[in-house]
Formats: sequence, C-alpha cells, structure tokens
Amino acid sequence: MADSLEDLKARVRALKADFEAALGPAGDATGLQSVRDRFLGRKAGAVTALLKSLGGLADDARREAGRELNELKDDLEAKLEAAKTSLEAKAGALRLERESLDVTLPGRVPARGRRHPLVSTREALEDVFLSMGYEVYDGPEVEDDFHCFEALNMPPDHPARDMQDTFYVDVPGPSDLLLRTHTSSGQIRYMLENAHPPEVRIICPGKVYRRDNDITHSPMFQQIEGLVVGRGISVSDLKGTIEAFLHRLFGEKYPVRFRCSYFPYTEPSVEADLSCIVCDGKGCRVCKQTGWIEILGSGMVDPAVFEKVNEHLGRVVYDPEEVTGFAFGLGIDRVAMIRHGIDDIRLFYGGDLRFLEQFRG
Ligand SMILES: [Zn+2]
Repeated sequence: MADSLEDLKARVRALKADFEAALGPAGDATGLQSVRDRFLGRKAGAVTALLKSLGGLADDARREAGRELNELKDDLEAKLEAAKTSLEAKAGALRLERESLDVTLPGRVPARGRRHPLVSTREALEDVFLSMGYEVYDGPEVEDDFHCFEALNMPPDHPARDMQDTFYVDVPGPSDLLLRTHTSSGQIRYMLENAHPPEVRIICPGKVYRRDNDITHSPMFQQIEGLVVGRGISVSDLKGTIEAFLHRLFGEKYPVRFRCSYFPYTEPSVEADLSCIVCDGKGCRVCKQTGWIEILGSGMVDPAVFEKVNEHLGRVVYDPEEVTGFAFGLGIDRVAMIRHGIDDIRLFYGGDLRFLEQFRG
C-alpha cells in the first residue's frame, strides 16, 4: 500500500531501474516477452501491483498517481517496442551478412552424365547393323515357353534347355511365363507379327536373364539377336555379314574365323572368333593364350523353326522349300568387355561412379 505520492514516486523510480536492468540482457523475442510479463502482465505484472496499491491515497493524490502510472506504462511499452525493433534489425543484418552473394566466385559446373559403356556399345552395334539396312526390333523380357524355347526347336525335354538356367515367373494359376534367357525369342515374335512376304532383316537387342553369377556371368546381361530371311540366303551371306560387322566394330586388321558348333535352332551352326585385339593373336590372358576371342554364335535357320512359325500362324508363310535364313546372337556385355579391356562383368551393374566416369560415351 502506497502511503503517499512521494512514496509511490520512489517506487516508480525503483521499478524503472529494475526494468532497465531486466531489458538489457533480453536478447530475443522470448526474453522480451518474459520482461513484458514481469512488468506489464495484467494479473501479476509489477505495474498492476502498483496500481492496486493506490487505494490508501487521497483523491487528488490518487489521480496524479494514476497519471504517473499511465506514463510509466507508456514508457515501458515504448522501450519494449524499441528493443524489439532493434533486435529484428540486428537479426536481419546478420542474415544478410551470412547469405551475401560473392559474384566473383567461380560458378559450380553441373555434373554431366555419360553414356553407360553397355549403352554406348549397344548403340555402336546398332549403328553397324542399321547402316546395313537392318531394322531394330524390341521384344518383351517376360516371355512364355513357346517363344523362348518351343518354337526355337527346343521341346520340353530337349537337353539344350539345361544350358540355359531359367528364371520362371511365379504367378497364380497354370503359367509358362519366364524371363527370356536369350533374345532369340525376338526372331519368333517378329516372324509371327510380320506374316507378309518373308523378307526379314532385323536385330533384336535387349536384356536377358539366367541363373549365373561370376566374373564373366551376370544374372542379367544383354544380347543382340540378328535374323535374316529371304530367297537364296546362304552360308556365304552369313560369313560375309559377320565378317563385315566385326571389322566395322573392331577394325579390319583382325582376322575372323568360324568353327562348327551346335544350337537347336540353327543347322549348320557356327561360332565366330576374332583374332585377339589385346595381343594381336600372339596369346595372352584375355584370349587364354589361344590368340582368339569367342565373339558370337550363329547358323542357318533350322527349317523346323519356320515350320513352328507356320504352324502357329495356321498357314505357310515361311516355306522352308522357298526361303532360307541365318541368325546370330552375341553378348553386348562381352563385346563391351573386349572393347574396353574389362575383366569383371559385375562392374557394369555395380553402379560405382569411379568405374563409370572413365567412359566418355
Ligand atoms: Zn590375346
């Protein structure tokens, strides 16, 4: 209870001093709010407490005391507001300083992607065949037994199926879906979809899948299948095409040789080897001291394949008495490994930038 006006004025001076002392260290919005609560709070603020203490004063004195306290309130409000403005200005200046832009700094060069070596190899292969008048045909990676095996002269118990460890697709109900083990299924699909006068000249590049995993085998790898069909296509066309293609890709100085082989869907079947580009045929680790690198498998289309296609079409379009053809298949991964001297196929699929950045596409 204030006893007199003098007493009240003394208490106002003391309160002002307390206020200044509290405001000085308040360094942020929360600090300012707690000073406001302490001095100007409606219920428990120090000024409110003073107002409540005026009851004991005479009327005149009380009026003047009220004016005094109102001025005090306005004064404290103004000081709080000024402190708030000053704090905000300081924070703004600090932010400007932190976010300042130095226009003399060199710019950041965006990282440029590169062609994956398998993509650039596939494109190089496609370019060679496109220039020879081939069409690129795209077949599905999820195949059925008919297109992947049966139509290629591999009936259910054929031992050749054992050479291709197959991933079957497990879906409810009876199903013969599988991940294609070779792009040869593209031959069948193309012939069935193009049952016009039998003139075919296609390549079918894409991913294939087998249950294999070591430094030269990956469960997913890539192949290019080729198919040529027409009247009078012979083994010499096959040899000439493959030689021309390998010379375009690797250079004319490397001899190509053909060896007899076996594939269920070609007859006769041959494999083509390229003289080792690492040692020029002298013998090294890459060619296992033989001087030759196996490149691809090929052969003349087995008439049984044409018959399967005709049977599926329900009419004779590819008459084995009229047309002949050759097919070939090669691994894109293998060609890329030879081109770039890579000895582990898994590097292609590891996603390691230190490996990938070495290729300029
Ligand atoms: Zn060699």
